[in-house]
Amino acid sequence: MTLPHPNSASAWAEGVRNGEIDPREGILGALERVETRDGEIHALLGTDAPGALARADAVAQALAEGKDPGPLAGVPVAIKNNIAVEGWPLECGSKILKGFRSRFTATVVRRLQDAGAIPIGWANLDEFAMGASGENSAFAPPLNPFDTGKVPGGSSGGSAAAVAAGYCPIALGSETGGSVRQPASFCGLFGLKPTYGRFSRWGLVAFASSLDQIGVFGRSARDLALVFDACAGGDKRDATSLPDAPEKTLDANLPTKGLRVGVLAESMHEGVDPAVLDGVSRAAASFREGGAVVEECSLPHQSAVVPTYYLINTAEASANLARFDGTRYGARADATSLGEMVRASRDEGFGAEVKRRILLGTFALSAGYQDEYFQAAQRARTLVVRAYADLFENFDILLGATTPGPAFAVGEKADDPVAMYLCDIFTASANLAGVPAVNVPAGLSDGLPLGVQLTAAHRKEKILLAAAAHLEGSWGGCPDSPLLVEK
Ligand code: GLN
Repeated sequence: MTLPHPNSASAWAEGVRNGEIDPREGILGALERVETRDGEIHALLGTDAPGALARADAVAQALAEGKDPGPLAGVPVAIKNNIAVEGWPLECGSKILKGFRSRFTATVVRRLQDAGAIPIGWANLDEFAMGASGENSAFAPPLNPFDTGKVPGGSSGGSAAAVAAGYCPIALGSETGGSVRQPASFCGLFGLKPTYGRFSRWGLVAFASSLDQIGVFGRSARDLALVFDACAGGDKRDATSLPDAPEKTLDANLPTKGLRVGVLAESMHEGVDPAVLDGVSRAAASFREGGAVVEECSLPHQSAVVPTYYLINTAEASANLARFDGTRYGARADATSLGEMVRASRDEGFGAEVKRRILLGTFALSAGYQDEYFQAAQRARTLVVRAYADLFENFDILLGATTPGPAFAVGEKADDPVAMYLCDIFTASANLAGVPAVNVPAGLSDGLPLGVQLTAAHRKEKILLAAAAHLEGSWGGCPDSPLLVEK
């Protein structure tokens, strides 16, 4: 019997399905890796050994009865702690939700479970998914497995660190402005944000509902495809989910020859780290060698992306987070009147960044300022949507940087919200437009991972993942963190 390979969900499931891997042994191995390594990394806020082992036994049982245990049979997965799993704490990295447990399981998690995957633990995150470093977690923040002096990125930093540290080959995160692609880039992983509506948001705690989308971390384009195919599709519980059948992305054998690739000029400017620029140039060369037609292109309004994104996400967050008032969920402050209880619960429960966003968003929506701020942002958003539509008339894939640089030091940007917000400069536009995008690892620079970003038109995950697989083939995939077990 071989031990499961923590690098590959495909190989793991294959081993379980053909009897080479015992599902229980596999899960015990994953939990042991968490036990020995996570005291340092803080990727997970907790694990569910009994639940995971029960599922492993169910997979073994299905196999024994000759039933199909699913394409992700026995594969451990970490779930960002803003995604509901029945019976698990759902605290969103916040003190205000202390002790709150979910009574149901998110649609996307349910679909993963139906495909045989096994949720092993809940992953650390920036509070309510607001942040780009993991440091806004109310708990000990997650660290980067490549260098524990560096952040893993955010807000899905715990999910990314869990995969990069080898606890599990895949993880779920969430995206509002780049929270899967940016940590994927910092941790040397593939990270997919699907088309808005492709994955159900039912069971994802709302941050900014018009932008939010569950996303996937993995160590190959193929593993992302396996998860995408298992999870994508409409859901009657989420009215914004896309009802049409998604394209199957697994084994998308699309030729690179003739592929029209646009290199985004805006991501090639001076402020961007030369190693990132080099990654984009290498990706362009690799597409060219594969027979693609590669041309420079431009996303006008790039400079409006960060302000637009921060007006919209704060406005929506200020409304969505109104529900956390001490009456229904989590922690409640002691007080003598209802008003005082609500005020004190929110004051004690929310961290500084969440409060900042509620204040900014309330201001942007307030009478007298709504036209100047919120409505202006909506108009700018329409321009970004149209700019992408125009680009996709001429290109199949857009290539650019995911982030301006590799992982930064813990504490480096923690006291500078604007510096932190600028981390989203190349990612938030895809959320504003709702188009799918993926981070593809592009090797190491001074020991830290680099990534490049590919973007496709709405619903075009198949071509997106095929293009990611092309780069993976020509570059050799994900770098291994020092913590990752080889075999
Ligand atoms: N860094 C961005 C923010 O803080 C992205 C967050 C996200 O995608 N959840 O809003």
